[in-house]
Amino acid sequence: MLVKLKDIPEEGLHLRYKENPEQFSVSEYVNKDIEIDTHIIKSADALFINGSIEAELRMECSRCLKVFTVTINPNFSVNYMPLPKGSDEDELELGKGDMEIGFYKGDTFDIDDLIKEQIVLSIPMQPLCSLSCKGICPVCGQNLNIKECNCGQENINPQFAALKNLLKK
Ligand SMILES: [Zn+2]
Ligand SMILES: [Zn+2]
Repeated sequence: MLVKLKDIPEEGLHLRYKENPEQFSVSEYVNKDIEIDTHIIKSADALFINGSIEAELRMECSRCLKVFTVTINPNFSVNYMPLPKGSDEDELELGKGDMEIGFYKGDTFDIDDLIKEQIVLSIPMQPLCSLSCKGICPVCGQNLNIKECNCGQENINPQFAALKNLLKK
């Protein structure tokens, strides 16, 4: 959604709306419409944007490969400054650990980029269907959440198991 800076009133602009995940190119892992609740305050040239989003992600468990859904609800608070004339946006990209400052160009601000970034940052690196997920047996491929297998209690890694089989012969 494009926000015209001149449309932001002195007391700030409160936006609350739902948007299709395709709008942010995240439809491959977001199920339903994304709920956005944000407040934009303009002070001179600076924009102070905070708010929260809610989205339902479709993830694959990193241990057992089951597809499951998880709801994320990140809060954000970001400041934006006008992009200095003649500079490149990429050059101004701030490293991790710096204050969250972004840049906008011209007299409009596109809130979609911010929303997309927040969703991407909230995607779990190693999604788990449950904290106690037992995963898949590396030897026989049995999903251990459904049934135990007979490959032994200790976690044997596949290479070691192959070696063990060789020694048996
Ligand atoms: Zn799992
Ligand atoms: Zn097994």
